[in-house]
Amino acid sequence: MTPDEVLATPLRFLKGVGPRRAADLQHAGLATLEDLLYRFPIRYEDRSHLQPIAALKPGQTASIAGRILSCGLRSTRRPGFKIFEAAVDDGSATLRVIWLNQPFLRDVFVRGQHVVLFGSVEMRGHGGLQLTNPQYEIVDEEDGETIHTGRIVPVYEKTGAVTPKMQRRLVHEALQKLPAEVPDHVPDEVRARLRLPSKKAALLAAHFPPDDASIEALNRFATPAQQRLIFEEAFLFQVGVFARRESAAAERKPVVVRVDDRIRESARAVLPFKLTNGQKQALKAIVDDMQRPHPMNRLLQGDVGAGKTIVALLAALVAMENGLQVAFMAPTEILAEQHFFNIARLLQPSRFRVTLLTGSTPSAARRTLLAEIESGACHLVVGTHALVQGSVQFKRLGLIVIDEQHRFGVLQRATLRTKGLAPDALVMTATPIPRTLALTLYGDLDVSVIRELPAGRLAIKTTAKPESRREDVYQFVRAQLDAGRQVYVIYPLVEESEKVDLKAATEMADHLAQEVFPEFRVGLLHGRMKADAKDRVMKAFAGGELHVLVSTTVVEVGVDVANASVMIVEHAERFGLSQLHQLRGRVGRDRHQSYCFLLYQSPLSDEARERLKAMTDTTDGFEIAERDLRLRGPGDFFGTRQAGVPTFRTIDLVRDREILDLAQQEAGRWFAAEAPPPAAIETLLANWAQRFKLVEVG
Ligand code: ADP
Ligand code: MG
Repeated sequence: MTPDEVLATPLRFLKGVGPRRAADLQHAGLATLEDLLYRFPIRYEDRSHLQPIAALKPGQTASIAGRILSCGLRSTRRPGFKIFEAAVDDGSATLRVIWLNQPFLRDVFVRGQHVVLFGSVEMRGHGGLQLTNPQYEIVDEEDGETIHTGRIVPVYEKTGAVTPKMQRRLVHEALQKLPAEVPDHVPDEVRARLRLPSKKAALLAAHFPPDDASIEALNRFATPAQQRLIFEEAFLFQVGVFARRESAAAERKPVVVRVDDRIRESARAVLPFKLTNGQKQALKAIVDDMQRPHPMNRLLQGDVGAGKTIVALLAALVAMENGLQVAFMAPTEILAEQHFFNIARLLQPSRFRVTLLTGSTPSAARRTLLAEIESGACHLVVGTHALVQGSVQFKRLGLIVIDEQHRFGVLQRATLRTKGLAPDALVMTATPIPRTLALTLYGDLDVSVIRELPAGRLAIKTTAKPESRREDVYQFVRAQLDAGRQVYVIYPLVEESEKVDLKAATEMADHLAQEVFPEFRVGLLHGRMKADAKDRVMKAFAGGELHVLVSTTVVEVGVDVANASVMIVEHAERFGLSQLHQLRGRVGRDRHQSYCFLLYQSPLSDEARERLKAMTDTTDGFEIAERDLRLRGPGDFFGTRQAGVPTFRTIDLVRDREILDLAQQEAGRWFAAEAPPPAAIETLLANWAQRFKLVEVG
């Protein structure tokens, strides 16, 4: 067998794995030796220093080993609440151990068993010590003591019917089967320079650490063995990203954009203000890309209010001056409409025709529009994802602008791309993406970041207040309204309780209009309203005819009313951090001092408290994004798995950012030196997307 074949060995060739267990393993995502060896322990326990029960102290976390003297289930005064209790003796003393509400333990433990327990030692009510809800493992006599106790042991996550102990035994056996040389995806040169341990040594040490390993480093996944395996996965991923980039770069645009003084002048003519430095730099990078022979793939990141739209519009102008059409996509109709009005206004003096195409464009108008797009009479089309539907044909689509990217599936980006002739693509996002995620999610994009806000903006003052302080907030709001400002009141709207939420928002609008601010005009906006009704309300608010806008989160992204200075978020505890930040970004868009009030219902969960604290601590979107990622974990960061977040076996996007950086550098360097890649990498790239469970993009 070649070493590769060894790693591909199905687990049923391991001792004690019959068809049934093999099925359980398969179910837990473990089919081959490689799968098994790449499933890291979730933590490590130092069982080389088992504490004698007699020496335990309250408050300490301890591993003990002993024999069960007695055990059983007992009822409590609370109906249905049961305690499983055991007495464990290790020769030095006897310890009481309890598990709350886990009656099934009755079928797990029997008198006389040898067990290893791991947990925190607590004081009992009337003296004496006990372990509560400890991790447990039953150690049979025939299990060689060496792998389950008397050393640092790996603890694996229980998946389905596959127990941590079973995995430990299987991993141990799998490691014995490894050939002397395990195939390594990290090239020799890179490995030598970074002084990485060999793959085999790393696998051994990551699962069964040597006695002198630091338990603390192990549990941080920071030992050389662990880091090396993480690096390998990151390196592979990044090599694939570079390969994808390379193949995109091989595409050629039929029309390469040129920029001359006439075009510069036409851009200056539409510009209503001076660009910030960040905007200038971003624009330069974009226009440079557009002048290259292969399609642009650029992500423009900038916090809410940073002024991304004008940058995109200027890029659009350059494309149109070169005889190309532009598609400008927004995630919602309201946003598309807003972009349309802004863009149409700015392009008024130019000779270019701008149109709006959304799902609610009436079919007759739609047909006319489609014909104009196809003939090239229409130069810039603003729209929602209706734009990507099959019926839209462009004559000469040269640039695609996608606002607020993460709202779209990665796939849609691909569909629209095929409509043009290798058009340039500019993706804009107002959700600052933590760097590590940007590296992985958008690794095949070039990135521009606008860090500063236009001059003269004041930081928004944010306060979190309990419901009970609502009156204070109203008083404050009245002063702002008197001063001529406008106010948003946002209600959460979750699908499961949509009816109730809508009712709450509607009632609040009435209450504010009739009782709280009778002298001002209050409007209501929610997702269930017809598009034209929404539009009327939004326009009335934008035009200053409405003073207070009560809304469900449809105003979340991009809506721009510069005179609004107060954002009140009701039930702020129900919103995600990025969402709160987006909402806050609706104010502070002008020279007025703006305010954000987060009204919450007590008691707060720990996580909700953290979110509100992050909001009051900082207005920096990148900082918020980092905290959000830490709170939610990468899987949930974009709300859905399909957002194109790769699935890693060993990498944790939060924990391992330094390794990811290093791997990116190394992969880039290696790829540049070795392109085209050697055959070994070629095969690997063939299933790269499946390996990382990525949605394939055109
Ligand atoms: P976002 O990046 O959130 O999409 P917008 O493009 O909507 O931000 O811009 C926010 C507001 O700032 C808009 O009203 C826009 O006209 C204004 N703006 C953008 N750039 C500048 C600038 N350089 N100077 C002054 N105002 C600007
Ligand atoms: Mg925007």
